[in-house]
Amino acid sequence: MRKLSFLLLITLFSISCKTQKIAKTPSTTTPIDTVQIAPPKAGTVIIEVQDSVDIFAHRLLKDTIVITAVGDMMLGTNYPNNSYLPPNEGKDQLAEVDSLLTDGDILFGNLEGVILNEGGIHKNCKNPKTCYIFRSPEYMLARIKEAGFNVMSVANNHAGDFGTTGRNNTSRMLDSLQINYAGNANQAYTTFWLDGMHYGFAAFAPNVGTPSINNLDSAKRTVQHLDSLVDVVIVSFHGGAEGSKYTHVTKKREYFYGENRGNVYQFSHAMIDAGADVILGHGPHVPRAVEVYDKRFIAYSLGNFCTYGRFNLSGSNGLAPIIRININSQGEFINGKLIAAKQIGRGIPTPDPSNKVIKLIKKLSEEDLPENEISIDESGNIFYLHK
Ligand SMILES: [Zn+2]
Repeated sequence: MRKLSFLLLITLFSISCKTQKIAKTPSTTTPIDTVQIAPPKAGTVIIEVQDSVDIFAHRLLKDTIVITAVGDMMLGTNYPNNSYLPPNEGKDQLAEVDSLLTDGDILFGNLEGVILNEGGIHKNCKNPKTCYIFRSPEYMLARIKEAGFNVMSVANNHAGDFGTTGRNNTSRMLDSLQINYAGNANQAYTTFWLDGMHYGFAAFAPNVGTPSINNLDSAKRTVQHLDSLVDVVIVSFHGGAEGSKYTHVTKKREYFYGENRGNVYQFSHAMIDAGADVILGHGPHVPRAVEVYDKRFIAYSLGNFCTYGRFNLSGSNGLAPIIRININSQGEFINGKLIAAKQIGRGIPTPDPSNKVIKLIKKLSEEDLPENEISIDESGNIFYLHK
């Protein structure tokens, strides 16, 4: 059959290339100007028509993607009452660390709670004073958006604090602010385009109403599916036991108050084997080790980042690491940086010149994962050892 081909050239700023089938039609007369090309901001797009049937786009991808990640975020709760809300509608909450969060492609955090102004049926709670359930007013999500967060996990033990009403309103608000999210029954994963790159994001937890960290087969299928669709797959989990006694990656299944909180080591490695490129863990409320396995980065726990009013912030619970990594368009780790921050007052993240969290994550990474493919220096730089 007669073959047609031609090129459409757009600005070039990278060297990698991905071939993607973008349309298929039995017609032999498909006019090329009717074909919708996926967001083409990054790199060259070459359209090739073969037999006027299969149309392929070759995209030249970004050579470096910057991912910045933090842990749990709960900027204030109006339940049980407004005394757990910060002053000034939270406008000063992230001011001290704002400049440390900018300039990346992806800014990730775990949305630990519900976005809802009022109402909803809260979880069983005998004494509201000692019952930790979180309902953040809608303006709090605007604060998160203003800080630049564009990917969030809703797979955690507080996303269901106010039932279906809470979950639905949280999703509605995330959608309305165009923050990409995943981790509930309606949205186990999501895909999105950013600056010419196609990303997939999935989030897991041991909690009801979230994709389970304990169902490895199902999680693998999700990741394999995403890997078949996108350039870079990011996986988040909320897992592992909680608190300062649980900073270590045990490589075993962890239980906390009788709940199976997953084997985060096995889970992370299995997800990378299935096609994930970056694993962002949280849940223990304290930082844990970081690792590069099969050229892919894992943070086993990002700890608390901005957790206002109702969280224990003593010792390692108050450390608020910001992790910034560079990966290539295949998702392979290039290098990274641990940035030291801590929470002060009732839960305000601020830079920490004493670098406590860098020392802790360096120590934990060396102790727990001696086979690691990275080394960390005193300033928090993460070097790939190319084993
Ligand atoms: Zn949690």
